[in-house]
Formats: sequence, C-alpha cells, structure tokens
Amino acid sequence: MSKAHRGKGTSEFYNHGRGNCPVCGRTGIKAVYEIEVSEKKLTVCKQCKVGVSRGKLDKSVAAL
Ligand SMILES: [Zn+2]
Repeated sequence: MSKAHRGKGTSEFYNHGRGNCPVCGRTGIKAVYEIEVSEKKLTVCKQCKVGVSRGKLDKSVAAL
C-alpha cells in the first residue's frame, strides 16, 4: 500500500482531504479515513478512526 493519506496522495481528495470530521466536530482537519458504522460509511479524521477501531467512540458515532 502506498501512502494514500499523505503528501501527494491527498491531492485526490477534495481540498486535499481537509474538512470537518463528523465525529469530533473539528474543522479544518484532514478527514480522509473511511470507517464503516452500522452499514454507513463515514469519512473521519485519523484520531477518530483509531478511536472507533478501538471501540472508544462508539457512542459519538452511533449518534450520527
Ligand atoms: Zn474526528
């Protein structure tokens, strides 16, 4: 796997992947990481991706 989320790879994303993360609500953050929550696909920031994969953010994600 190449570094799709770093450097040149981010140019494929809208605004180079910068935007708002729906989980933590931060703005101007790089949100390019796809997660699947109850058959929905969300694009979240790195921190939230890790949090979800470790089951720490289940509540905040379920509220979306
Ligand atoms: Zn986030």
